[in-house]
Amino acid sequence: MYAKNIWKNASPEKVTAIMEFNEGYKEYISLGKTERLCVDETIRIAEENGYVNLAEAKSAKPGDKLYLVNMNKNIVLFKVGEKPVVEGIRVLGAHIDSPRLDIKQNPLYERNGFALLDTHYYGGVKKYQWVTVPLAIHGVVCKKDGSTVKVSIGECCKDPVVGISDLLIHLSQDQLQKPAGKVIEGEDLDITIGSMPLSGEEKEPVKANVLRMLKEKYDIEEEDFLSAELEIVPAGKARDYGLDRSMVAGYGHDDRVCAYTSLKAVLDAKVSEYTSCCILVDKEEIGSVGATGAQSLFFENAILKLLALQGETSLLALRTTFENTKMLSSDVSAGFDPLFAHVNDPKNAAYLGNGIVFNKFTGRGGKSGSNDANPEYFAWVRKVMDESNVHFQTAELGKVDQGGGGTIAYILGNYNMNVVDAGVAVLNMHAPMEIVSKADVYEAYLAYKAFLEN
Ligand code: MN
Ligand code: MN
Repeated sequence: MYAKNIWKNASPEKVTAIMEFNEGYKEYISLGKTERLCVDETIRIAEENGYVNLAEAKSAKPGDKLYLVNMNKNIVLFKVGEKPVVEGIRVLGAHIDSPRLDIKQNPLYERNGFALLDTHYYGGVKKYQWVTVPLAIHGVVCKKDGSTVKVSIGECCKDPVVGISDLLIHLSQDQLQKPAGKVIEGEDLDITIGSMPLSGEEKEPVKANVLRMLKEKYDIEEEDFLSAELEIVPAGKARDYGLDRSMVAGYGHDDRVCAYTSLKAVLDAKVSEYTSCCILVDKEEIGSVGATGAQSLFFENAILKLLALQGETSLLALRTTFENTKMLSSDVSAGFDPLFAHVNDPKNAAYLGNGIVFNKFTGRGGKSGSNDANPEYFAWVRKVMDESNVHFQTAELGKVDQGGGGTIAYILGNYNMNVVDAGVAVLNMHAPMEIVSKADVYEAYLAYKAFLEN
């Protein structure tokens, strides 16, 4: 069904299904505040559903459920289909990194009676949105002895939170003259973490007190920050949004909403002709680079391992598999916001509640940097959606020349497979609190499942 509101046509049973599905989703993003935590939670859910580590598997027979993890930040799952893998697979690819503030390697300092942590923002953020909101710290500190300390502060209701201060309005005469991009600058996004001096300490007593607590609780020294990966994210759980509870407010919908719905689709899809796959990648927000990003060889290696379990080890088998593969690049779309209607072409915008959004292309300016999906392929996708009674819409990322953005679609497209972007419309994208429609979350799941089963 093209461009129709889901709620308007929904039976009471469907509304119940939408609401129940979103309870699981809220839990997933409340626990998965970082890519590592998303991977942890994904493994837990996968194992609960009978998935086993591909690295230990002896074969890949129809119905086998396999997963493979890359450096704790990137994971792929397969449900083996009836046809040999070399005849092609159905891939859902989403990213599990989200914009945030990362702690610098040498972060801790004391100034005027406060202890602060210096940060470096990750991904595209409007810096002014990150001040005066409660923030949590998640991540790992890796020590020289080979041990890893997991840090998680600010999520339990009794936990303290941290935050970044802003200037009081009374003294903001000068600040308010600045353009929004300069009101808060990157180097000023420093986290306040303490103000209590350690008694008997003369030099930097507040910092000394923080270090004493870190030693006590985590057995870490200041130098251990050098090999830490600590991420500052909005504190607190995802919640219902709107008096009618039709939406979810939370951090990291981009792109964990597509990660969760893709994951659930693979778990719930029947064993189909073609092998079902869900790949969750890191580093999309900074260009899909590095070992855990979509450009990494990890995905290719995982397919090679899967093929090997079916006795296929040639390069030709790998390339043939890719050529026979169809993919939905599961990433979010810019939702039409009535308060900022002017940035959209209303005929080609994504509306909350109208179902999964297909973007034939993304990019910037003259489609620069975009995977421009083949119409032959999208005709097939449309047919699958219509035959499965899935609500879908098509959109562009705002008006031509208004801005732009990209996804991982073009990277998988390089393997010569058919790829189109498909995801959930989001309001406030990249803000500490993003909004999605519960109806779209559920419909994305139905769309992904239909894709895998066809
Ligand atoms: Mn995204
Ligand atoms: Mn993004």
